[in-house]
Amino acid sequence: MNYIAGVELGGTTCIAAIAELSQPTKIIESFETDTKAKPLETLSNLRKSSLTYGFITTTPKEPWRNTDIVGFFKQEFGDTTPIGFETDVNAPAMAELAKIEHDPADTPTVVYITVGTGVGVGAVVGGKPIHGLLHLEGGHIMVPPIPGDSYPGGCSFNHEYCIEGMVNSKAIAARAGVSQRELHTLADDHEVWERAAYYLGVLCLNITYLLSPHVIVLGGGILKRKILFGKARKWFKDLLKGYLDVEKFKSEEGLASYIRESVFGDSTGIIGALELARKEVSNKEN
Ligand SMILES: [Zn+2]
Repeated sequence: MNYIAGVELGGTTCIAAIAELSQPTKIIESFETDTKAKPLETLSNLRKSSLTYGFITTTPKEPWRNTDIVGFFKQEFGDTTPIGFETDVNAPAMAELAKIEHDPADTPTVVYITVGTGVGVGAVVGGKPIHGLLHLEGGHIMVPPIPGDSYPGGCSFNHEYCIEGMVNSKAIAARAGVSQRELHTLADDHEVWERAAYYLGVLCLNITYLLSPHVIVLGGGILKRKILFGKARKWFKDLLKGYLDVEKFKSEEGLASYIRESVFGDSTGIIGALELARKEVSNKEN
């Protein structure tokens, strides 16, 4: 039996999991720990069960800056073990793609968006995650504010009206006058959700114009508020104004299949890591 391991290294939690090579979406065993302030405290916790590739460069978590993640695992497992490294949005996009039935000659374009303390956008085009010069930063696309929204934006890089600054958990909490931890106490009909949905709808629309994806998957802490999906789809449709002759943009049901939740629920991140591992093994074999 061949096994693969995945590690999801998040800002607060680190998850490691093992699966069979032939079934990356079926987790056999997993382990979770807090992401510690310093890399070695967390990495040494994971010695027995993990694989991942590259360096962490810029990150708000200062002691983690310039940490050689792949080097650590290479030291543990040697040069012959395939090791992959991806962003927390490209890996889930790869996992979603693996679940979509398609003709290999016509691989769907998949976009994965996470909305929480930050906003991240990952995209897989032609079966490959987009990296480009660095990696995609779709969370900082600028958007026109919705009329009546006086919130100036809370992007930590001081961008005016960037998506992250307008729709991350800090922005929604500030508008509602609550702490980020209290966001779950707000009622579904609170106006902040309508505003958040508008910004998500605009983001999906801009991405649609730019990449023409087959599906956009929304995830992250803020999207636990399920009403946002329907509202974001409505804004998407209203702002599209009938442009683009795509059948699924014309009905609620069609749009529900276009802008949707992850098929992996809360396990998207770790399954993305396992899918990355599976791909690394298959690339090495071919
Ligand atoms: Zn920004």
